[in-house]
Amino acid sequence: LVVLGIETSCDDTAVAVVRSDGEILSQVVSSQADLLVKYGGVDPKMAEEAHSQVIDQVVQEALDKAYMTEKDLTAVAVTIGPGLSLCLRVGVQKARRIAGGFNLPIIGIHHMEAHALVARLIEKDLQFPFMALLISGGHNLLILARDLGQYIQLGTTIDDAIGEAYDKLAKWLGLDMSRSGGPAIEELAREGNDKSFNFSIPMKQHKDCNFSYAGLKTQVRRAIESKKIDAKIPISSASYEDRMSRADMAASFQQRIAVLHLEERCERAIQWALKMEPSIKHLVISGGVASNQYVRARLDAVVKKNGLQLVCPPPRLCTDNGVMIAWTGIEHFRVGRYDPPPPAEDPEDFFYDVRPRWPLGEEYAEGRSESR
Ligand code: ATP
Ligand code: FE
Repeated sequence: LVVLGIETSCDDTAVAVVRSDGEILSQVVSSQADLLVKYGGVDPKMAEEAHSQVIDQVVQEALDKAYMTEKDLTAVAVTIGPGLSLCLRVGVQKARRIAGGFNLPIIGIHHMEAHALVARLIEKDLQFPFMALLISGGHNLLILARDLGQYIQLGTTIDDAIGEAYDKLAKWLGLDMSRSGGPAIEELAREGNDKSFNFSIPMKQHKDCNFSYAGLKTQVRRAIESKKIDAKIPISSASYEDRMSRADMAASFQQRIAVLHLEERCERAIQWALKMEPSIKHLVISGGVASNQYVRARLDAVVKKNGLQLVCPPPRLCTDNGVMIAWTGIEHFRVGRYDPPPPAEDPEDFFYDVRPRWPLGEEYAEGRSESR
C-alpha cells in the first residue's frame, strides 16, 4: 500500500507519501511562521488563504520527491478534525479532488489519533494496548489506546494546552517569535537556574489526571512584573542581568509548571490504565512539545520507574506532519475503514464532514470516583 497524507488542520500545510512497510517516501511541510509573527497567532482566514495558496504545490512536491504520480497511490488520507474548519476544508477539498480524479478511496483522519499512532511507524514492537501523552499547541491528552479506534481519555486540560503556555511565556519574555515559542524557551532554560522561582505545581490537590495551565497567567505574570521584565525589549538587547532573570524564569517554568505537572499526572494515569489493561508495556509521547529534550528525558525516567517503556517519535514526527496522517490512513485502510472514491465528475458534490471539535474516544468514567 502507498498512501498520500494531507494535513491542514492548523497553520502547517503538510503532505507525505508513506508505504505500508513504514518507509517514508517523501514529506513536505510548508509553515506559516511569517504570518504567525505578523498577526501574533493563527488567524483562521489568513491561515486558510495560506493553505490554499500552497496546497497544490506541496502535494506535487511530495509526489515528485517520492518519484510517483497519483496513479501509483492506493488511497488518500486527510485530516478531517479536530482543528480550524476553514483550514481543514482546504485539505479535504484537495484530497477529494485527487481521490475523485484517480478513483482512489479516501480516509478521514483524527489529527490527535495520528499524533499517537505515528509512534507505531517508528517502533514496530508497539502493540495495542498502550498509553499516550499527547502534548501540543491545542491539546493535553492522556489516553489509553486499547485497540485501533478504541481510545479512553484518562485526562485532558481544563483550560490551556501546554504548548500554548510555552508560546505565551516566550512572548512575555521577549523571545524571538519567528518560530514557535517552545524551542525558544527550551533553549533559554538551559542558561537558567530552575530553582530560582518556586512556582507551584498546578492542580496538586486534584487527584485526577487532568491538566491546567491557566495559573501561569497569575503566577508567572506576577514574577515577570516583580522582575520588571519588559517584553518590548527583545532578549537580544537585554542586559546580562535581565537576560539571566528571563532564563531563570524559563527554567523554573519548564521544571515546575510544565514537567513536574506532566510527571505527576502520568504516574497516576499509568496506575489507572494498568487496572484496565495489565498488559500495557509502552507509553508514547507525541505532539509538538514532545520534541523538547528536557521533557523527553524526564518523562523517560518516570515511565521506566513505573515499569513501562517510553516511545517518542523524532521531533519532525512530533510536530504536525503529513507522515502521521498517511500512516494512520494505512492503519485504517488495512482494517477496511475508508470511504469509496468520490464521483469523478464532481468530487466536491456532497459535503464532506469536517469535525472541528472531535473528542478522541470516551472519558474514563471511573476517573471521577478514583480521584476522590
Ligand atoms: P494540535 O496538535 O493540538 O492541534 P498543533 O498541531 O498546533 O496543535 P503541534 O504542531 O503538534 O501543535 O505542536 C506545536 C506546539 O508545540 C507549539 O505550541 C510549540 O510551542 C510546541 N513546541 C514545539 N517544539 C517545542 C519544544 N522544543 N519545547 C516545547 N514546546 C515545543
Ligand atoms: Fe498537532
